Amino acid sequence: MSAWERAEALRLQVVRAAGGQCSCGGECGRRHLSETPEGQRAVLGDVRRCPARDGVAAPLHAAPVVLGLPEVLSAGMPAGALRALCDGCHGRLLCRAAKAAAGGWQPEAEVMLFR
Ligand SMILES: [Zn+2]
Ligand SMILES: [Zn+2]
Repeated sequence: MSAWERAEALRLQVVRAAGGQCSCGGECGRRHLSETPEGQRAVLGDVRRCPARDGVAAPLHAAPVVLGLPEVLSAGMPAGALRALCDGCHGRLLCRAAKAAAGGWQPEAEVMLFR
């Protein structure tokens, strides 16, 4: 098995555990209240979860639960330390993690907005 195959197998495992859907519940800064991939109404009870699904055109990422780690490292992490994220949410979360690292953001205060 090549390194790429191992990474892809791990990614699939993480994505399947998330039901093939982005696991972002609004932490990226978007509230995902009524977004759906095909413009349908969001499913009740799942309205705060990002609707992006895994697909060939836009595969979900297996991102470390603790963001900001080098990508190389995440390939060697157990599936439980990873979460499925779409490209958009992953990018916004990384941006937030970078801001947090710079000291300009307070995660606790931010998380309260989504409870
Ligand atoms: Zn997402
Ligand atoms: Zn999101």
